[in-house]
Amino acid sequence: MAVLSIVLPAYNEEQNIGNTAKVLAELLERQGIEYELVFISDGSVDGTYEEILKAAKENPNVKGAQFSRNFGKEAGIFAGLELATGDAVIVMDCDLQHPPEVIPQMWEKWQNGAEIVEGIKSDRGKESLGYKLSAGLFYRIMSRLIRIDMSASSDFKLLDRKVVNVLLELPERNTFFRALTFWAGFQKETVEYEVQARKYGESKWSFWSLMKYAISNATSFSTMPLQMVTVFGAVSILGSVILFIQTLVRYFMGASVEGFTTVILLILIIGGFIMLSLGIIGHYIARVYEEVKGRPKYIISRVTDNVAGNVTGAWKRERR
Ligand code: UDP
Ligand code: MG
Repeated sequence: MAVLSIVLPAYNEEQNIGNTAKVLAELLERQGIEYELVFISDGSVDGTYEEILKAAKENPNVKGAQFSRNFGKEAGIFAGLELATGDAVIVMDCDLQHPPEVIPQMWEKWQNGAEIVEGIKSDRGKESLGYKLSAGLFYRIMSRLIRIDMSASSDFKLLDRKVVNVLLELPERNTFFRALTFWAGFQKETVEYEVQARKYGESKWSFWSLMKYAISNATSFSTMPLQMVTVFGAVSILGSVILFIQTLVRYFMGASVEGFTTVILLILIIGGFIMLSLGIIGHYIARVYEEVKGRPKYIISRVTDNVAGNVTGAWKRERR
């Protein structure tokens, strides 16, 4: 019988683990779906990992790992994909903002041949205005840059084993899970869902972490900012040609060009363009540097007993 793995990245979610494990187990058992729950504690500093151990003790279908430090949600997702052994894998938040009731629909579409089932947000739920604005801006920038409509997409999706293997084979460190499934292709289906209110704890994203995430994802998926440097250059050259013609005309008309202010202004404008461009190029060089170093996406410091095989950086098996 086919097995469904559910990957749940968790950062300081001690209040959510037990409840989420219980809700998902009940649902999947009721549906008669064989499953495993893979919790990845992303370097949590509260009792998240202890809660995972507790849940694993109560339910042998629960397994998990702890990162050596906070590596970010992307890393958590990829570690979960690595640990998952199912024929289909669902990635979802462990705060139940992604409603579990959608899982049976995803499962059914997968059984009918879909290789990727995308969860599409029909509503962002009850979130603060500031959050809505920054998240909105984030998705607008993203959609523009990578030419994929990201506004309603989320990390909530089901992937067939084939797709999981493709993603795990990718050599890059800076991944963007949400867009990578579009990039990978495959047969796609969608399921709409309504974002639920968070039950316990609070959102881990601040305005700045979201902005950083946006820039990092945009540059890992697009070279458009680099091409903008060329546009800046073209604009400067066009400006100087116009200025040159104007100067020439005034010279022949016998008027002298007043110099100082113009020169200062030009230096400031062109200097600004150059520094901005250097910054953009520098950002890409930094990304190349990070990729070239080839450090692992994450380091696992602990895993539960039932995690089989070699796991990147796992150095200690946990006794239950
Ligand atoms: N998360 C993570 N590492 C981080 C930040 C968040 O694994 O560095 C997890 C978090 O525990 C949750 C999911 O990613 O399961 C979504 O995070 P959150 O609920 O804070 O984001 P929001 O739902 O507000 O977008
Ligand atoms: Mg959430």
